[in-house]
Amino acid sequence: MRCVACDAAETPERPEHTAQGYRRFRCRACGKQFNERSGRILNRAQYPSDVIALVVFWCLR
Ligand SMILES: [Zn+2]
Repeated sequence: MRCVACDAAETPERPEHTAQGYRRFRCRACGKQFNERSGRILNRAQYPSDVIALVVFWCLR
């Protein structure tokens, strides 16, 4: 996964996960920590991304 701050490619995965179960990474170039959801449109949403996708799907059906 690419760094959300400096777009570096070398971001090893960390052993722990976030409270919602997302994988965490740390950038080797700038030291910033982020997860799979950082920098995306659903970053600040309360619910997991797959739940939001299901609700949107049901509403559009
Ligand atoms: Zn970085």
